[in-house]
Amino acid sequence: MKINMKIKKLMNSLFKRIESKCDELISFTQELVQIPTINPPGDEYTRCAEFLGNRLKKSGFTVHYERATNTPGDSDRYPRNNIIARIEGKHSGQCVHFNNHLDVVVPGTGWTMDPFKGIIKDGKIYGRGTSDMKGGLAASVIAMEAIIEENINFSGAIEISGTVDEETGGFGGVAFLAKKGFFSKPRVDHVIIPEPLNVDRVCLGHRGVWWSEVETFGRIAHGSMPFLGDSAIRHMTAFLEILEQKFFPLLEQKKTKMPVVPEEAKQSSLNLQALHGGENETFEGMPSPCVPDSCRLIMDRRFLIEEDINEVKAEITNLLDELSNTRHNFRYQIKDIMEFLPTMTEKNSPVVKIFSDSIRKILNKTPKHVISPGTYDQKHIARIGNLHDCIAYGPGILDLAHQPDEYIVIDDMLASAKVMALSTLKLLGLKS
Ligand SMILES: [Zn+2]
Repeated sequence: MKINMKIKKLMNSLFKRIESKCDELISFTQELVQIPTINPPGDEYTRCAEFLGNRLKKSGFTVHYERATNTPGDSDRYPRNNIIARIEGKHSGQCVHFNNHLDVVVPGTGWTMDPFKGIIKDGKIYGRGTSDMKGGLAASVIAMEAIIEENINFSGAIEISGTVDEETGGFGGVAFLAKKGFFSKPRVDHVIIPEPLNVDRVCLGHRGVWWSEVETFGRIAHGSMPFLGDSAIRHMTAFLEILEQKFFPLLEQKKTKMPVVPEEAKQSSLNLQALHGGENETFEGMPSPCVPDSCRLIMDRRFLIEEDINEVKAEITNLLDELSNTRHNFRYQIKDIMEFLPTMTEKNSPVVKIFSDSIRKILNKTPKHVISPGTYDQKHIARIGNLHDCIAYGPGILDLAHQPDEYIVIDDMLASAKVMALSTLKLLGLKS
């Protein structure tokens, strides 16, 4: 009873501290938004990493930088600079790590205000990356600084990282660091990724992804005598027809038990992402009359935890082989571009249980457990780091990610900072 009272007092004081840091939270978010870390190409990574690193150093963290040389996009003009900060508690124990990606996507069109100013209106901060995910980064930093400023005697260690290239696959960011052991035991035990999944939800993982390119082949001839050639576009059309008739209906049957949001994403999906055949699109003037000898299709297949990646691939190659056997001169090749398996953290794992409890306590709501339709850096932590106590939890709003007039609600940032602080202390062994 006495201990509980003590913890309650400690928590009240911690939450008051977080509330008193609201202005700081806002200005820190604005300053992060004002560094336009657009990826691709990976602008301003160094400035953003150092801005975060300098702040965390002042707060007592040991700061370490890692440039991911020889990863996609890394050059002296666009160095892939990551920052990892760590602070040790007074006693040994486990480590809680907050992983934030520093990059944002291009603003695109449709903005009614400057996307890189961090304009405040009606309790919201507007700007590219506010929801996805500089607001989440700022909340995690403020939450951990509040713990430090309160002189709370925690065990183990707290880490905060700012990593690059999440929007383009994370190869120069979390994947690179995971290969170096930054996301494995014994260094780290629990990882929270403050991606925008809404303040009252805990994201357990994501569906799988397979990108591939199918190319059909033909033979070039004069366009006035197509019978002397063989059209690769017509061969591709035959494949597209089979997809429409056989494959899309099949996909609709593939439902998952994973709690994917939105509802429509609770099944397998295929996006025909790009299609090109014949005359090069960069030609100028008049096209020349030729039978196309090549046609390429890029496909984005999202799959479920119930599916095996080899079967996912075989479904497509079986259709192509069927065409090879039934259609005269049908020739194709298929190339893998990228693949990641689905990942889902157990509902009763420590990080899920503790964050869910904190959401209940702080927001007075029953937290929803969700799965993201697209992948994020958790894939690298699970597969390369072999660390499975990992979630995405952050104050951003999922639907606003990559949209014009993206914003974050200031009250959500504050609430999430409290959830993060309370959960961190519980994960590090504070009993409630
Ligand atoms: Zn993101």
